[in-house]
Amino acid sequence: MQVAAVDVVNPRTGQVDYRFIPPSADQLAARAGELRKAQAGWRAAGLAARCAAMRRFATALESQRDAIVAALAIDTGRTHIAAGELASAANNIRRWCDRAPAIVEPPQFDSKMVPSLTIGHQLVPYSLVGVISPWNFPLALSLIDAVPALIAGCAVLIKPSEVTPRFAVPFREAIRSVPELSAVFDIIAGGRDTGAQLIPLVDAICFTGSVATGRKVGVAAAEHFIPAFLELGGKDPAVVLPGADLEQASDGILRSSCLATGQACLAIERVYVHESDHDRLVDLLVEKSKRVRFNHPDIDSGDIGPMIFGRQADIIDAHLDDAVARGAVIRCGGKSQNLGGGRYVPATVVTNVNHDMKLMTDETFGPITPVMKYRSVEEAVALANDTIYGLSGAVFARTLEEARAVAERINAGGMSLNDAGLTRETYEAEKHSFGCSGTGGSRHGDAGLTRFFRKKALLGQRGAPARLV
Ligand code: NAD
Repeated sequence: MQVAAVDVVNPRTGQVDYRFIPPSADQLAARAGELRKAQAGWRAAGLAARCAAMRRFATALESQRDAIVAALAIDTGRTHIAAGELASAANNIRRWCDRAPAIVEPPQFDSKMVPSLTIGHQLVPYSLVGVISPWNFPLALSLIDAVPALIAGCAVLIKPSEVTPRFAVPFREAIRSVPELSAVFDIIAGGRDTGAQLIPLVDAICFTGSVATGRKVGVAAAEHFIPAFLELGGKDPAVVLPGADLEQASDGILRSSCLATGQACLAIERVYVHESDHDRLVDLLVEKSKRVRFNHPDIDSGDIGPMIFGRQADIIDAHLDDAVARGAVIRCGGKSQNLGGGRYVPATVVTNVNHDMKLMTDETFGPITPVMKYRSVEEAVALANDTIYGLSGAVFARTLEEARAVAERINAGGMSLNDAGLTRETYEAEKHSFGCSGTGGSRHGDAGLTRFFRKKALLGQRGAPARLV
């Protein structure tokens, strides 16, 4: 059956300037079948051979750097972050290759419960892992699960977002330049239907995206009895305790709120500050926000790009309208602006907010920093935990110990102490997503790799089997 072409909008112009044809269900199934078939050889080749191929892939990505970064820059309307995504992808592949040998040794020991038993384990990778990625960091979030899965010995099929599919073309060239990898690894652009069709074809699904879609993916995965690793949205709080360095707190909060135009799951989207520090912190945030510049008209300049997905700008505008209608005050910035067809949202600071406002409860996904006063630490913790999400957050305090004591009371999987958004800077710390922010093992830290193995127990009887009669 002929599949309809998908039109893709350029975020800087608002115009459709790219089109692709998703695979038919049969084509997708056929490619999944090929990858699955080749996986046995990839697994049998052993860890050292797989890591050697992955290192060549890192080099291939760097060789395709100009083409991938150029395509990503059109997909996302920004160049600096596109270049950063590529550089950190290559580094991350090498980091996993360095780290993997130490963490894939299956445990072996003698039983304490039955002393004659030797307990061994075999680590059995899933044959085919599906990866469904979002539009906000198209390359990084396609590779974050794919790389450890491949190193574990799985085959991987990525379905990137239909909003940002251009990078997949040069990315595929990089895969193809490493023949043993191209037998077990592919990326196929497609829309929602392709994502839904992928789930029954794989043995585990890694999904990064919204809560609404994550719920559908989780249900589909349950129907097919496959594990779903769901990395979903967030509404990250920052709590600023009395005695915190407000200069540093405002730097960390602003960077985390506005980085990637706020289009990051781990962006700070709510700030709680003690009433005695409120005005000073707001002044600092406003003063610094006014210095944040659009990357328009020069894509190589500035700090804030256009919204990658135009409809997200409508959501941001709606959250601001709702907040203002309920008494919020916009201290700087404001709603989206149309510049040359792109939808740009300025760094925006909002005060007089409360939890009746969508701006404080729903994911806004823009460079907006709402600031709310609290009177006691108890109240601050309660406000930070008043959310369906639990991705990450931040606490600023006089000392790391003070910050940690409060961070331990916040229901989120990754807390930055005296900074914000640190789970984006390093993938070394294991973290789970709490609440509606996701399910499944940690994608960070060593578990990011070991979650792609099923453990098989091999129980050896050194004595004689017990007799029934
Ligand atoms: P989205 O949920 O709209 O789409 C994500 C992907 O799912 C896309 O590739 C899409 O084609 C696919 N899809 C849509 N319907 C599907 C279905 N029924 N079955 C299978 N696949 C389907 O998300 P988005 O708007 O692209 O991304 C933004 C969201 O991602 C935000 O909520 C953000 O917080 C979240 N996110 C989370 C993390 C994290 O690590 N927790 C990281 C980045 C982004």
